[in-house]
Amino acid sequence: MRVAMIGTGYVGLVSGACFADFGHVVTCIDKDAGKIERLEQGIMPIFEPGLDELVERNVKAGRLFFTTDPAQAVREADAVFIAVGTPSRRGDGHADLSYVHAAAEEVAGLVDGFTVVVTKSTVPVGTGDEIEAIIARVRPDADVAVVSNPEFLREGAAIDDFKRPDRVVVGTEDERAREVMRQLYRPLYLNETPIVFTARRTSELIKYAANAFLALKITFINEIADLCEAVGGDVQAVARGIGLDNRIGSKFLHAGPGYGGSCFPKDTLALVRTATDAGTPLQLVEATVRVNDARKKSMAQRIANALGGEVRGKTIGILGLTFKPNTDDMRDSPSLDIIPALQAMGAKVQAFDPEGREARHMLNGVDFRDGPYGVAEGADALVLLTEWDEFRALDFDRVKAFMRGRVLVDLRNVYKPRDMEAEGFDYYSIGRAPVRAAVVPAPAAAAAE
Ligand code: NAD
Repeated sequence: MRVAMIGTGYVGLVSGACFADFGHVVTCIDKDAGKIERLEQGIMPIFEPGLDELVERNVKAGRLFFTTDPAQAVREADAVFIAVGTPSRRGDGHADLSYVHAAAEEVAGLVDGFTVVVTKSTVPVGTGDEIEAIIARVRPDADVAVVSNPEFLREGAAIDDFKRPDRVVVGTEDERAREVMRQLYRPLYLNETPIVFTARRTSELIKYAANAFLALKITFINEIADLCEAVGGDVQAVARGIGLDNRIGSKFLHAGPGYGGSCFPKDTLALVRTATDAGTPLQLVEATVRVNDARKKSMAQRIANALGGEVRGKTIGILGLTFKPNTDDMRDSPSLDIIPALQAMGAKVQAFDPEGREARHMLNGVDFRDGPYGVAEGADALVLLTEWDEFRALDFDRVKAFMRGRVLVDLRNVYKPRDMEAEGFDYYSIGRAPVRAAVVPAPAAAAAE
């Protein structure tokens, strides 16, 4: 099969490279000439584990191409995927479909012969109908089937998620289009991955319902964490205790500073807007959005409380800036709420993230350091904000030697309270009682003296 992928971002590039690895001939197209130029030189525009090797292998095999010009690839394609961004529209929270509409318009002018136009972007219910109408307007003679095929990959594990998904969802009632989609996902078909064929609108809804449910699950355990703190429980044990119940499941039960990232915040908001417009408000999702926003905003005060309520003139070291580990994605990261709030309270912030280079353009007044020990230097408090592996086994003797204070705020519950107490920290985590540094008894005088 020949595939044209419009949009070469986190989803388009990973999907394109994986389809090429399945044996299809894929052209990834992007308007961003710098991105395409870098890709042609073998330089990845994003950080995603395993991506550089996957891209290199498929480029060498002659199955993966990059271009800024969609003309030839779209003309020759059996399937054209739209994988452009659908950010929140400023002001009202609806999904901004301008990139999707523009891509549809462009594709319409280029398709040749029967072509399946597939929406991989996360789009509100009814967008497939809009794309169909755009194509019909621009090219009344075009022989296309518009299909919804939402993407469920997670950044940081994107390749594995694409190649071994829990399911693939395909929304179309057109039998020719279903056959093209079957061929595209053939390796997964052979693996017995469930391929869920639905009507297009249902498929569009599945994506938002899935993201809203996961956001709700995170928000639920975050509220349980607050309750644990208030009444003396341990949220880690509660999460394990409920997660072992198969009806609940253990995933997405990690209490933390509130969800962020490029999907949950915008998708929950867009779903709320869709539901309100349809006259069937989703009150649980509305509450999720509200509670999560408040939670992210409350984290700075939580850090200040660990420092006795006052951070003016204090130095706070932040470990991790991306919204989760193993990605360079900074979109809607909790760090973007927490750090400016700490600065507004008068704190000096120094920070390090292994891949979050974009942070330098998104955060003002931060002293960016080269590693975790640089962040500890002169810090009154250290805050573990993103659970990168390299923060999971810190050399605490070094950390303490660099730090001025002894406060450790672990917003990801990476460490065990007892261990941190023994290390001599005042340790604050989520949904567990804080611990104060153990008072180490003065060494007994030697008997001989
Ligand atoms: P992104 O911003 O990383 O990439 C979008 C790319 O599309 C950009 O490189 C942009 O230059 C390009 N583009 C925009 N209009 C174009 C056009 N007309 N022609 C060619 N290129 C164009 O976005 P992303 O994170 O890959 O997300 C894409 C979609 O997938 C969104 O709808 C998102 O909600 C959804 N999604 C994202 C993830 C994720 O983890 N990032 C997971 C599942 C679904």
